Amino acid sequence: MTRALIQWIDSDYCPEGAARLREQPDRVDWLRVLPFIFLHAGCLGVIWVGWSPVAVWAAVALYFIRMFAVTGIHHRYFSHKTYSTSRFGQFLLAVFAATTVQRGSLWWAYHHRHHHQHSDQAEDAHSPHVHGFLWSHIGWITSRRNFPTDYSKIRDLARFPELVWLNRFDLVVPTLFAVALFGVGALLERVAPGLGTTGPQMLVWAFFISTTVLFHGTACINSMAHLMGRRRFRTEDDSRNSFILAIITLGEGWHNNHHRYQSSTRNGFYWWEVDPTYYGLKLLSWTGFIWGLKPVPQAVLDEGARAEHAASVAAAESAAQARREHGSSPLKQVIPAAAAIAVATVQAANSEAPRKTESPAVHKDVSELAHELRSGQTSSQTPPTPGA
Ligand SMILES: [Zn+2]
Ligand SMILES: [Zn+2]
Repeated sequence: MTRALIQWIDSDYCPEGAARLREQPDRVDWLRVLPFIFLHAGCLGVIWVGWSPVAVWAAVALYFIRMFAVTGIHHRYFSHKTYSTSRFGQFLLAVFAATTVQRGSLWWAYHHRHHHQHSDQAEDAHSPHVHGFLWSHIGWITSRRNFPTDYSKIRDLARFPELVWLNRFDLVVPTLFAVALFGVGALLERVAPGLGTTGPQMLVWAFFISTTVLFHGTACINSMAHLMGRRRFRTEDDSRNSFILAIITLGEGWHNNHHRYQSSTRNGFYWWEVDPTYYGLKLLSWTGFIWGLKPVPQAVLDEGARAEHAASVAAAESAAQARREHGSSPLKQVIPAAAAIAVATVQAANSEAPRKTESPAVHKDVSELAHELRSGQTSSQTPPTPGA
């Protein structure tokens, strides 16, 4: 009990040694995970505090504002360094990201880089193919072995003591944030009683409900984005692209794109792939607060265009084959063609991802890709199809 109490405050406290703990099998640590259960239980407070439009709008706004922090900061900055900022800017980003209540940016980045190195393999902490849906969505963060941060795997971040402090005492910012929201509700109750909100109501909606939904929205990328959607790139995992997940997560749903090329600031590779996080980061870059946003290399875009072209040709060929087999009446032409395209789409979506033979580098830059192209590792020799 004492151990868990200390760890709630000091998440780096680990008397048995973090390295030894990581070697143990997965086991839910019920005491350690109590704050997370408390976060979910807090949503039930709505029974007593009721609702008001301002509290609900605050919850919705804070979901999207903080989803931007999850994807734009935890993921695209700390995990992949897809853009640059000053040291002070980096600290501000880490504080902002801490309000998402998804532990420290360093813990987040450590686990995420590990996911890219071992995607859908036994070592992957949250693969739905290896551990099942529920474990990939929520179970893995309750496991005792996944609590400590392995600072040796994120040396580029661990050299900043201010980031390590925020990571170690990862309940400080969330607690201050919750208190501030309570204060805003209490203040509104006094100065604008017509809004019908209170401190406890704002705490329940803007903190507990918004944060819990934010967690599950984010967790969908670990679980759903390796199960639902299309595979444009034949990556060595089972990552997929999904418009629905892209909306829920402000652009992270283009997960197959991201597994193909992790170093670009945008996950939606083409203009029609909605990526609000990228638009936000682009706006931020115009203020000078961040800079050096990394583009998607043309070779990767061309590879995607070739893959789309090949998929549509295959679907058309299946449709023609079905037409030949089922005669030429208009109805007989339309039904098999539609069925063939549907089957081809489902087959593409469910195609087996080849297993990895070795762990890829977490970051791939343009020079590496150029080398791969020269050595013929990239796929098809078919010329790219403009606009495909
Ligand atoms: Zn993934
Ligand atoms: Zn990533």
